[in-house]
Amino acid sequence: MSILEIENLSVSFKQYTAGFKQIQHQVISSLDVKLEAGKILAVVGASGSGKSLLAHAILGILPSNAMVSGVIKFEGEELTPARQKAVRGKEIALVPQSVNFLDPLMRVGSQVRTSVHKGDPVQAQRNVFKRFHLGQEVERMYPFQLSGGMARRTLLSTAMVSGAKVIVADEPTPGLDPVVIKEALNHFREFANQGCAVMLITHDIESALQIADKIAVFYAGTTVEIAKVEDFTGQGEAIRHPYTKALWRALPQNDFIPIPGSQPHPSSLPPGCLFAPRCELATAECHQAEPNMRELRDGMVRCIHAT
Ligand code: SF4
Repeated sequence: MSILEIENLSVSFKQYTAGFKQIQHQVISSLDVKLEAGKILAVVGASGSGKSLLAHAILGILPSNAMVSGVIKFEGEELTPARQKAVRGKEIALVPQSVNFLDPLMRVGSQVRTSVHKGDPVQAQRNVFKRFHLGQEVERMYPFQLSGGMARRTLLSTAMVSGAKVIVADEPTPGLDPVVIKEALNHFREFANQGCAVMLITHDIESALQIADKIAVFYAGTTVEIAKVEDFTGQGEAIRHPYTKALWRALPQNDFIPIPGSQPHPSSLPPGCLFAPRCELATAECHQAEPNMRELRDGMVRCIHAT
């Protein structure tokens, strides 16, 4: 059963040009994803595809000039701004991309303890630090005294002690060495095994395939495919969307062929299918209207020609 459902989510930003003309940039459009308890959904896409904004939209922490439409439901009920505030950090926790989310003026042990909602906060913080190989001396340190890896493990600790039912992890592993990345990914698997629903937002499809159950492929602000991890095999015959196939083929262990062209900027989205300018299979029809997401072979795809 889905614990978090996102239906037809769009996010745009109002901006003013030099001549004070107001323009609107659509950064997320018609996005649909579902999270299930005990499962990891990886949202995979290139930088600049709007993935972090998705995390911020779920938590209700978008900047004030953002305009949001669509519905986000948590446990079957709509997540209104008031409900987002009530569940943030308790039922839905964020592992942010930036370590700047740590309070620079508070010792890190105390910061982690403020996220404990049940039981003894000191004990919970010490247990989680042990699990993440943070020595007891770390609890008295301030964020500026931590290495990048230690700061990331502190952020993971905060999410872990919160007892949240949904964890949204926004690029949680950049700059970590491969051993720590593997360890961090395993911790997300543990979160899921304990019954949590995990959304792992990443540009790293290889890491995502190691631990996720499903992959949602994000392109220019929308999902183009939702597939099971098992679909990523061989020449990608089971994959539905041309962009997902191209991502799979671009991996070093496959053909290592980069995808020509680049993702469009939100200010210059093409008409019709957003991938059409780069798609080898595009026909005149593809340029007319953006395809709807549809079910196909036990997955979802946004392509009129996928079979
Ligand atoms: S709709 Fe057309 S352009 Fe878009 S991915 Fe499918 S085949 Fe390519």
